[in-house]
Amino acid sequence: MRRVEEWIPKTELGKMVVRGEVKSMSQALRTGLPLRESEIVDILLPDMDDEVLDVNMVQRMTDSGRRINFGIIVVVGNGDGYVGLGRSKGREVGPAIRKAIDNAKLNMIEVKRGCGSWECGCFRPHTLPFRVTGKSGSVEITLKPAPRGVGLAVADVAKSVVRLAGIEDAWGFARGHTKTTINYARATFNALRQSMEYKVADDQMRGLHVISGPVNHYEVDLAAVMGQKAEAPEAGEAAEEAEEMEELPQIQPKDVRRSRKAQLQDWCEAFGLDSSGKVDDLRKRLIAFLESEDYQALLRKEAEQGEGAAAAKEGEE
Ligand SMILES: [Zn+2]
Repeated sequence: MRRVEEWIPKTELGKMVVRGEVKSMSQALRTGLPLRESEIVDILLPDMDDEVLDVNMVQRMTDSGRRINFGIIVVVGNGDGYVGLGRSKGREVGPAIRKAIDNAKLNMIEVKRGCGSWECGCFRPHTLPFRVTGKSGSVEITLKPAPRGVGLAVADVAKSVVRLAGIEDAWGFARGHTKTTINYARATFNALRQSMEYKVADDQMRGLHVISGPVNHYEVDLAAVMGQKAEAPEAGEAAEEAEEMEELPQIQPKDVRRSRKAQLQDWCEAFGLDSSGKVDDLRKRLIAFLESEDYQALLRKEAEQGEGAAAAKEGEE
């Protein structure tokens, strides 16, 4: 991380990170200060992954002749509660991609995850804690919690965004012109952002093990990053918070430790599907159903019942 060692922050948030006052992405976002330097993210989330969603070639006629520009859309994420979306334009693909990655880092959000349903009962934050929707242009996407083992039953662009946020299982469907990658990606991103905007009751946070942000709480060791001497860890609020996070997976009622197969069978039965066969068969059957018109109709019916009613119902389950 050579770039970071030589970095001199210009913004207030950047200075706080370098002074060691902000040690995690979660803290950084909670300051409410604008995130304007991608180095902040490089320091606070060192295990960032990225994926180019679209490279679009745009030709333009100028006074000096034909000019080609590349439009790039990139998603970045740490695969553990943080995801960002960025785009950029440029005459060369390589630099344009790097610029889009930096832009995506400045557009970072924290995502809520949970087990999603009492039926799953694994109580690990592997899916969305509740249904979320997002819109951009003509595209509207709905993402729903899925039982463990289903995987990401959403289409390509949405899958990349959701996966980099650290969600392993989800169902979803999109309406509108999903071939417009930017709108599809933004709609998905907005849906994930909604997970943050929803207030979740404390008992539900605990009951379904809903967490905000990372499972693996990372606090930057600034000394190591900057190549200085390490300082003694401080017992503060952040340390307490990290301890609380670690305690979560231990609360596992014995009666819900069912096998993945049993969980998938339950879901097949819930939807009136054949529940015989191996795990792979069950999974395929479930996904085929989730992609079918029958399931879309079911979701539409649910959506018609109104957001409030659906949310209340999910709360009771
Ligand atoms: Zn679960």
